[in-house]
Amino acid sequence: MAFESVLADLDERGLRRRRRSVRRLSHDTAEIELDGRPCIDFCSNDYLGISAHPRVTAALVAAAREHGVGARASHLISGHQGEHDALEEELAAFTRRERALLFSTGYMANLGLSTALVRKGGVVLGDALNHASLIDAGRIARASVDHYAHGDAAALDAKLSALNAGPALVLTDGVFSMDGDLAPLPVLAMTCARHGALLSVDDAHGLGVVGDGGGGSVEYFGLTPLQVPALVGTLGKAFGSFGAFVAGDAGLIETLIQRARTYIYTTALPVAVAAATRAALSVSITESWRRTRVLSLARRFRALATDAGIPLAASETPIQPILLGGADAAVAASRRLLEHGFFVAAIRPPTVPDGSSRLRVALSAAHRDADVEGLVAALAEVLAHE
Ligand SMILES: *Cc1c(COP(=O)(O)O)cnc(C)c1O
Repeated sequence: MAFESVLADLDERGLRRRRRSVRRLSHDTAEIELDGRPCIDFCSNDYLGISAHPRVTAALVAAAREHGVGARASHLISGHQGEHDALEEELAAFTRRERALLFSTGYMANLGLSTALVRKGGVVLGDALNHASLIDAGRIARASVDHYAHGDAAALDAKLSALNAGPALVLTDGVFSMDGDLAPLPVLAMTCARHGALLSVDDAHGLGVVGDGGGGSVEYFGLTPLQVPALVGTLGKAFGSFGAFVAGDAGLIETLIQRARTYIYTTALPVAVAAATRAALSVSITESWRRTRVLSLARRFRALATDAGIPLAASETPIQPILLGGADAAVAASRRLLEHGFFVAAIRPPTVPDGSSRLRVALSAAHRDADVEGLVAALAEVLAHE
């Protein structure tokens, strides 16, 4: 069977992935059991530590009692309900845009956006380190897809200048998911405006975390909706829930409703999940100390790691990668950290480019000072023995 040779090849290159079974040991710390072994989780995207917040779970339970579990149909048939409308209005207000549209996942939001906006043979340009869903977004739209060097607006400008097709769609992460750095949005926005290209920012890791009000990388840079016409957000990361949305002006959202196949041809998000997400959005705003806390833990991690001689990347967000190069080295370091009681996943190709395998440390407001101190001590020991 061809399957076996594919799997053997992955084994040989150290790229075979294995799922591990997690059980949470607490609602407000990062203590988990991993395959039955207690440890501190440094892999989750629950940056604000609200995925088990009592207000969020209470909203889910209450809405499930009232509305049931399944939405029973797609949004355009009979699955669209009041909680969806309310959440969309609150997300639009939060991102200061006319409208927002819920999608089941961030992956589907990106695919839906490109299929709705790009005609076959149109042009999609993306940052070389974009999330896989932005790469696939270009492919599924049957667009001509090209990438510019990471964070390089001059490279984007050159590619846009060389085009003689119609207006391009430009896709970028706001905060890069595996690197933690911010896209240079002001200059990217200027470049797109100059060429009449449409800029879409996927701020899966920025919303709720960066910007004074948690409004993400667009707020951080003080950009207007005109400068970043399409904003994609996910609800399964800082908001600790599930789902995603696109925010933009009424014309964009109405176009997505009419043409985004990943919106039209799928079951609506469970109403209880929408209700829980409303509570989570509210908690993220009222408990703004969580954002301050996770960012201060990121600074503390960096200070301690620097003192310990651990090489860091240029990231000020809760995503703190430690580049190790080879996949084997990253896997070995991850395994040794687990022996010290810390779970930090090894990130390997194809998630990151060849030769840039890494440990991806993700901080959360749920971490205690001692968790971060312990992690750095363990990292120093593990890396010294590599
Ligand atoms: C996680 C992520 C997604 C996917 O979101 P899901 O809701 O988990 O499907 C999309 N874009 C980026 C940048 C991400 O990090």
